Amino acid sequence: MSNSGIAGQQKIGVVSLGCPKALVDSEQFLTQLRAEGYEISGSYNDADLVIVNTCGFIDSAVQESLDAIGEALSENGKVIVTGCLGAKGDIVQQTHPKVLAVTGPHATDEVVKAVHDYLPKPHDPFIDLIPPQGIKLTPKHYAYLKISEGCNHRCTFCIIPSMRGDLVSRPVHDVLKEAESLARAGVKELLVISQDTSAYGVDVKYKTGFYNGRPVKTRMTELAEELGKLGIWVRLHYVYPYPSVDEVIPLMAEGKILPYLDVPFQHASPRILKAMKRPGDSEKVLQRVQKWRAICPDLAIRSTFITGFPGETEEDFQMLLDFLDEAQLDRVGCFTYSPVEGATANALPDHVPAELAEERKARFMEKQAEISARRLAAKVGKTLEVLIDEVDEEGAIGRTYADAPEIDGLVYLNGETALQVGDKIQATIVESDEYDLWAERS
Ligand code: SF4
Repeated sequence: MSNSGIAGQQKIGVVSLGCPKALVDSEQFLTQLRAEGYEISGSYNDADLVIVNTCGFIDSAVQESLDAIGEALSENGKVIVTGCLGAKGDIVQQTHPKVLAVTGPHATDEVVKAVHDYLPKPHDPFIDLIPPQGIKLTPKHYAYLKISEGCNHRCTFCIIPSMRGDLVSRPVHDVLKEAESLARAGVKELLVISQDTSAYGVDVKYKTGFYNGRPVKTRMTELAEELGKLGIWVRLHYVYPYPSVDEVIPLMAEGKILPYLDVPFQHASPRILKAMKRPGDSEKVLQRVQKWRAICPDLAIRSTFITGFPGETEEDFQMLLDFLDEAQLDRVGCFTYSPVEGATANALPDHVPAELAEERKARFMEKQAEISARRLAAKVGKTLEVLIDEVDEEGAIGRTYADAPEIDGLVYLNGETALQVGDKIQATIVESDEYDLWAERS
């Protein structure tokens, strides 16, 4: 359970599951509840009510969410459920009829209303208990900045648009105000997230907003440029591979935002990409990657892929391996295809047996491990800025610009016990393996 509690009355426990977007939802309703005077409890026993923020993306996440609800019910008894699983029919009520209320994702107002219904608002809200940046569930030296909700794409393996709806961009001044207040509160790294970061502003026709008296378009490039002025690390996630992505690369080359791009390619076979309803031309993608690297040689590219998508032949899979060889990506995640209830891909013919999908994933990861090891070995001898995430009796652990928290690699600084979490230091890389680096302070 997340814990940011203090002693007092009307305490709420929170179990936050799922992706960073769900985490931001939790932060938003917790901020609101704290503003009203509720306290946040770190244990089931101490809480008067528990909110479970669920994930419904794949079957294992559904099960994990249902288990978490069951645990909260048996440990506490008063449970409100929110998040993606809440949007998937009445599975929650059917499995756990005792839950008090169920909402879908991104439903701050509904969650807060349900809390009011079952645990009336405290009489004397201490609004000034809230730090101006709201409550963050991530360590305070980095924070997720959600810029939009929903998605206009209809990738056939994904049910997010049916759960979260079409793209709705947050007003640009709101996003920038939040970012500024996070930076002022000591956050050293902002992770920009959404379902589709490059589509930011499409729904409002890239409307011009105003921030600190200046006009700023509701658009990824302009947003990135403004965020770059905060003087902290800015990292872009979930960037759909549109041609317009080219525009942010110069900002990376100029050091305004981190030279890091998380761009899910999903596959490389044109046939499979078409069946996935993703942009279908991997040749063009390769050219684009080369162009990006020509402008910004330090660019670190992270991507995700799916093996075993319905209809994937050995030939399609080989194209994927060849793509990896050509693209030389820095960080790669791989999932085996699993049918998600409600996804249109379920109706496609020629489903790939699960063992074969797993076997392809293993071959894929083996190839990427070699690529990653080579790319990391090329960093040995370089001096890079490292943001410290953790310090213990053995030393410090941090990350460079090429590594996002939780999903990418680490930099180990053995013996550096005097550093503090959130410090940014210069360090020279002395050793590497397939995923991580070892460094000495310069
Ligand atoms: S772009 Fe992402 S969120 Fe949108 S439909 Fe495709 S996979 Fe789902």
